[in-house]
Amino acid sequence: MGKKTIFDKCRKNKESSYVDCELGSLDELKAVIPSNFLRDDLPLPNLGELDVVRHYTHLGSLNFSVDTNFYPLGSCTMKYNPKINEAIAHLKGFTDIHPYQSEKDIQGALELMYCLEEALCEITGMKRFSFQPSSGAQGELAGMLMVRKFHQVHGNKKTKVIVPDTAHGTNPATAAMSGYAIQVIESSPEGLIDIKRLRNLVDEETAAIMLTNPNTLGLFEERILEISDIVHQKGGLLYYDGANFNPLLGITNPLLMGFDIVHLNLHKTFSTPHGCGGPGAGVVGVSDRLIDFLPAPLVEKNNGKFYFNYNLKHSIGRIRSFYGNFSVLVRTYAYILRLGRNGLIKAAQNAVLNANYLKEKLKENFEVAYLKECMHEVIFTCQQQKEKGVAVFDIAKRLIDYEIHPPTIYFPLIVKEALMVEPTETESKETIDYFIESMTKINNEIKENPQIVKNSPHTTPIKRVDETKAARCLDLRWKKTGD
Ligand SMILES: *Cc1c(COP(=O)(O)O)cnc(C)c1O
Repeated sequence: MGKKTIFDKCRKNKESSYVDCELGSLDELKAVIPSNFLRDDLPLPNLGELDVVRHYTHLGSLNFSVDTNFYPLGSCTMKYNPKINEAIAHLKGFTDIHPYQSEKDIQGALELMYCLEEALCEITGMKRFSFQPSSGAQGELAGMLMVRKFHQVHGNKKTKVIVPDTAHGTNPATAAMSGYAIQVIESSPEGLIDIKRLRNLVDEETAAIMLTNPNTLGLFEERILEISDIVHQKGGLLYYDGANFNPLLGITNPLLMGFDIVHLNLHKTFSTPHGCGGPGAGVVGVSDRLIDFLPAPLVEKNNGKFYFNYNLKHSIGRIRSFYGNFSVLVRTYAYILRLGRNGLIKAAQNAVLNANYLKEKLKENFEVAYLKECMHEVIFTCQQQKEKGVAVFDIAKRLIDYEIHPPTIYFPLIVKEALMVEPTETESKETIDYFIESMTKINNEIKENPQIVKNSPHTTPIKRVDETKAARCLDLRWKKTGD
């Protein structure tokens, strides 16, 4: 037996918890904890628990979140996440199961996946879904690997993927990772796919076009059926980036628009807390002719029993471990059941109504980038403000002083001084009016006292951080002050 440690002391008396155990000296602690973790030269403050709790609670209150502030982040769908979803996702029957358990022990979980898949198929028109991808970007990768395999199996020589110049950055990145050359298609002055250009671009080597509809300018591609014909006629596939499906829920679907593959960001459209790389689900769905290519396994039902089917002829294989982020699936299913068909349609309509309301109220002071009626998000181009010496970056920072999370800025790349706002359907008229009022005030400040905007934010402990330094010069070593 080696030296007795404080943990041995605790173990002796099984009844007592570690908390009851008398803490040993620093030397004793060092005997059990690797030496690097405990250093006597750390100037740890000697504080009572209450002081520590207050300190951290205060720090926590400095954060922005959907639960505390309006979060009008374009292209991200930061809607309210109903708390009942959390309660349901935390039910023991869901949290206390393990992917290695046998199918007969997890029939409930399998049934949920089965029913959710049916619901998503109904919503999108697709025939089957894989829940494996953990993010929109990974859903895209799964989708484009299916495109590649589809063409390989059919002996098609395909080398190119078409992506609009408004696309989310993940689209061209995914196409490139899947081994394709990217062809960027320039948008028309109206912000839509230029059909003439498309006709010239599409040829026998076009593997697919990656689109989102409404597109990343928040506009509906009205000529989507023509686009679909042009690409399909040359044997290409249509990939639908459905990350932001909010405005179309129950109104139309990608199958009707001619798409072959779809990914949905359940964490955006179907209410899961997201951001900072938290768990997501970029589930990927396909039309009939691509079912065999999905990542295995799929959930099937036979004689009232649910089971995993690994037998997919051309499956691209696994894209991650097990069956995706299961708790996101639970939240999604809870959300869909709670809203029902009419509730989902209403959510879509209100998302579009809110964005158009905001656009109409603000367009006098902030130039709208595209005049066409928008869908769930609207893009302003703050060039007039820029001419007065205030960049859209400054406006975004100033919004923090009004306790509003900065919207998406400088995206899509083709809009100068872009400010992209997505109010979502869950915000009240009062909140949207407050945003409009704050933006109007900021516009007046720009005229009267631009410095107040340029030097903002004024209410945060730190004003402006170097946004790339932490990533470029990562240094996690603790340093003594003054070093
Ligand atoms: C958010 C988003 C993505 C990427 O989704 P992640 O889950 O962040 O990987 C792709 N396309 C569009 C249009 C998006 O808005």
